[in-house]
Amino acid sequence: MAVDGDETNGGGDSQPSVNTTAEKKKETPILRLSLVPNNEYVSDSYDDPNLVYSSCVLRSLEKYLPPEIFSANRNEKAKFMSDILRKYFSKAKRLKNRRQEFISKYQPSFRGWYDIDPKLFLLPSFLEAISDNTEASFRRIISEPHPSVFVFQMFQPDFYETVIVEVENIRKWAEETNFPIRRPNNMSKHGVVLDHFGLDIFLKKLIQEFIFPLCKVFFPEVCGTMFDSHHGFFIETGEDRDPALGLHMDLSEITLNVCLKKQFEGGEIIFGGTRCKKHKKTKFKDEAIFRYSHIPGQAILHRGRHCHGANTTRTTCYRANMILCCNSSLFREMETYQKDFSDWCGQCAHETKVKESQIIAARREGMIRIEDGARGSTDKPWHVYVRRSKK
Ligand SMILES: [Zn+2]
Repeated sequence: MAVDGDETNGGGDSQPSVNTTAEKKKETPILRLSLVPNNEYVSDSYDDPNLVYSSCVLRSLEKYLPPEIFSANRNEKAKFMSDILRKYFSKAKRLKNRRQEFISKYQPSFRGWYDIDPKLFLLPSFLEAISDNTEASFRRIISEPHPSVFVFQMFQPDFYETVIVEVENIRKWAEETNFPIRRPNNMSKHGVVLDHFGLDIFLKKLIQEFIFPLCKVFFPEVCGTMFDSHHGFFIETGEDRDPALGLHMDLSEITLNVCLKKQFEGGEIIFGGTRCKKHKKTKFKDEAIFRYSHIPGQAILHRGRHCHGANTTRTTCYRANMILCCNSSLFREMETYQKDFSDWCGQCAHETKVKESQIIAARREGMIRIEDGARGSTDKPWHVYVRRSKK
């Protein structure tokens, strides 16, 4: 069976190489766009009908040029940016074509995936809570066993079996036709990206109509506007399936993790600390660890930056999960400018608390110095109070 990797790491189209020998490649480093924009940079004009991409697109990308390219002439800069854009557009086009090919050839077990109304799979109690659209109505059906980890039942029981049967059918068909299966990540050998197999419309509707209202209430810092992309996939972990992932953060703002099936004991989900982009490698204290036994039928909603992973010590536990990673490019843009996320990042909150303590200590020290300087001439009651509190 052909396997199509995640394509985020070496699986996608590559830019045409300028150099032909290994020696030249070694001498010339590959230039990449800068992660931080140069807002001082004055853009060139790219109003030229011979250019493939519009002036507006090129000018917005120009401030991310690597410093080595800033001094190049307009045509060289346009070529550099066009090569990068071409890479992404060709990848998107290739994925779109493959999806169309799949839909035109594959006969799904459940024939309604491509235009299904998600309501048909959802529990009446969940639908009623979303329809009422208040925090009180959500809390009626949702528990929060740990801060910002929300657990609830949302799907009817037959939904889980429908997804599992469909994935088995896709695998069998892909095996027979040598159609490449896109995996959720480069390490997965058994997972399936559901979006790639025609479930993207269903999942998008699910997010827009049912997950986003919850996120607006429970994760207000992320959900000012609708998510603009998602990554939906099916994973199986266990002895003869993919190994369970240890602690990690998702490349998402919000993650919905639905347990479709579980066999044997163990296999808890472990949550660690929550971290902003700047602090994502900062360790968290053991007290931040929270273990949750995820049972079939339950959905867990959490921040993608809430460090989490499966308990990897019990490898016999089989689990099948549907994961929906919801992304907001607006939040990511905002995150590059905002410096403090104390309301949800544990490390930001800790640093803010330390700064506040230092300010209070410095003020206190200043007051004591004033009091010591004034001692002898006047001995007001508040001076006595400061001296006593110092002890
Ligand atoms: Zn932080």
